[in-house]
Amino acid sequence: MGLIVQKFGGTSVGDVEKIQNVAGRVAEEKQNGNGVVVVVSAMGKTTDKLVEMANELSSSPSKREMDMLLTTGEQVTISLLAIALKEKGLDAVSYTGWQAGISTESVHGNARILNINPNKIKNDLAAGRVVVVAGFQGVTDNGEITTLGRGGSDTTAVALAAALNADKCDIYTDVTGVYTTDPRYVKGARKLLGVSYDEMLELANLGAGVLHPRAVEFAKNFGVTLEVRSSMEKERGTVIEEEIAMEQNLIVRGIAFEDQITRVSIIGLDNSITSLPTIFTTLANNHINVDIIIQSGTGTDKANISFSIKSSDLKETLEVLEKNKETLNYESVESETGLAKVSIVGAGMISNPGVAAKMFEVLAAEGVQVKMVSTSEIKVSTVVSEQLMVKAVEALHDSFELSNVPVQA
Ligand code: ADP
Ligand code: ASP
Ligand code: MG
Repeated sequence: MGLIVQKFGGTSVGDVEKIQNVAGRVAEEKQNGNGVVVVVSAMGKTTDKLVEMANELSSSPSKREMDMLLTTGEQVTISLLAIALKEKGLDAVSYTGWQAGISTESVHGNARILNINPNKIKNDLAAGRVVVVAGFQGVTDNGEITTLGRGGSDTTAVALAAALNADKCDIYTDVTGVYTTDPRYVKGARKLLGVSYDEMLELANLGAGVLHPRAVEFAKNFGVTLEVRSSMEKERGTVIEEEIAMEQNLIVRGIAFEDQITRVSIIGLDNSITSLPTIFTTLANNHINVDIIIQSGTGTDKANISFSIKSSDLKETLEVLEKNKETLNYESVESETGLAKVSIVGAGMISNPGVAAKMFEVLAAEGVQVKMVSTSEIKVSTVVSEQLMVKAVEALHDSFELSNVPVQA
């Protein structure tokens, strides 16, 4: 008998009928002779609606209370699913994050899982029970309830699969797998049969919302085999594991993109050896996440530094820079909003020079100006105008032959 962790996202548990459908998928797995742990998200758009309500009451609601609020969403789903499972004649029990033994660091809104004590769940499994766990939540050593960041139920599922040494973790969602790019934006996107951990980690970090980046990190570190598949269709999904052969010898596996990016430029910075650490330490101390960094004018006594951030961090970034103007010793700050990041990802790049060059040529031919670039062994990211984002993705999708990946059912 094996052990399977199944995770069902918000759309898959969007109403009572869908919860019944999920109960059916769980029952099938149980009938196959497997032990089953199920992780669920809040129903439909519940989390968004809760966030909206809090924002109506305050422009900066307490992070502790936000966690208190948002964790209620998942608590509704676990109880309803356990009720539906019992109705099907299965023995089932639902647990919140803390009941399931999920300990996190003391950070509200984006906590990391530090430890899982799986004893309670193991006892239930030994007794033949299906265990239903609330995704996206945990508890600190002080008994404070935390959340794992938006989309974090994936991470709960993979972390539980690692702690329980499960044979597999299935992520059930509203698409049939991981596609060459987001199928909601690009009609020609193709389902992939496999993606390696490293590629998936890049895709997830670069904006492919289909998996929470930390879930992929856990899967890689603990060797958990993941499959992303549909909660409605019975077709096979996309397997994520260590080594995956490239389909049709392609160089690029997928394209990720993210809108609402802003470029900030600090002009006339004193070109001393301490300028760079001072700026980025100041930003880091204020929890501002900086992405691509470009420094220019290094041969002179004044340098310029540009970096990209999420547009939602712009106000705070400008405030921090203004507050520390004297220490940082710069002349002025400029910013450009309305940008997007478009990235190509693929393990095939390691052994193929000229991939970045080809990407720039394709974008230039489409009239898409590249404003910033960053590369790693298996990705090239460009910052472009937000208005041209989808056009850029479509052109790259065709030029790197992703539209030729065979259609899989
Ligand atoms: P869930 O609520 O099940 O966690 P999400 O909305 O978080 O579902 O993730 C599924 C969505 O991810 C899809 O509807 C799709 O629009 C989006 N997505 C982005 N990039 C990709 C990709 N490369 N492949 C598949 N889906 C993607
Ligand atoms: N309900 C949470 C969210 O909407 C967590 C999740 O669905 O993964 O972000
Ligand atoms: Mg998700």
